[in-house]
Amino acid sequence: MRRKIAAGNWKMNGSVPALGELQKVAAGLGDSAPQVVICPPATLLFTAVAEMSDTPVRIGAQDCHGAASGAHTGDLSAAMVAETGATHVILGHSERRADHGETDAMVRAKAQAAFAAGLTAIVCLGETLEQRDAGETLEVIRTQLAGSLPDGIPADRTVVAYEPIWAIGTGKVPEIAQIAEVHDLLRAELTARFGAQAADTIPLLYGGSVKPDNAAEIFAVTNVDGALVGGASLKAADFLPIVTALPDS
Ligand code: PEP
Repeated sequence: MRRKIAAGNWKMNGSVPALGELQKVAAGLGDSAPQVVICPPATLLFTAVAEMSDTPVRIGAQDCHGAASGAHTGDLSAAMVAETGATHVILGHSERRADHGETDAMVRAKAQAAFAAGLTAIVCLGETLEQRDAGETLEVIRTQLAGSLPDGIPADRTVVAYEPIWAIGTGKVPEIAQIAEVHDLLRAELTARFGAQAADTIPLLYGGSVKPDNAAEIFAVTNVDGALVGGASLKAADFLPIVTALPDS
């Protein structure tokens, strides 16, 4: 059965005292909870890993560079991320694509580096509102998926997150049928490229204004295997109800 995942993206939020929220998340997980991954800022990775070491909560980074080392001031290699004890890395988030000009080819190189370092890559895709209104969503997603994933992916360390850009941090959520349509497309495209066995292994997360009050409806969609959560992952009181809304948890 595919892994169910509730992943939290803290973005450029959080501080050492905020790691207390992680302790609350860990304490609130039941025995059959889904995989919980929290991605704090890079400055908190070592401490977060240490604090979560006796818990099922896994820690992820929000980015890594595609190169192994070199003159890339301010960047972290995948091996550096892995050295912190983090197990996951978010790649190609729309905020990085927008703020740092990340292209599909750059995301693909980052994914390759992440896999080589033993990390699980959470690869993000999503259309703008203009693209959706123009009826281009499926083509945009198809292109991003094809360009952002390298050949020969380790399916058991690959996660794909569909995050419509217009739904991130806005409180707007696509209609359930729209989420289903994109997730069905993702599964079909992954099957066509990597085969059914690999495609059936890869969790597909939905991201974009997931909250305690809409999580259950989103998680009921076929081919939605969890969520990538931004704002609502910052407080355990908001994140835990999302975690427990995942089926089998
Ligand atoms: C995100 O940044 O990945 C995200 C989904 O944010 P939010 O949940 O705040 O919309």
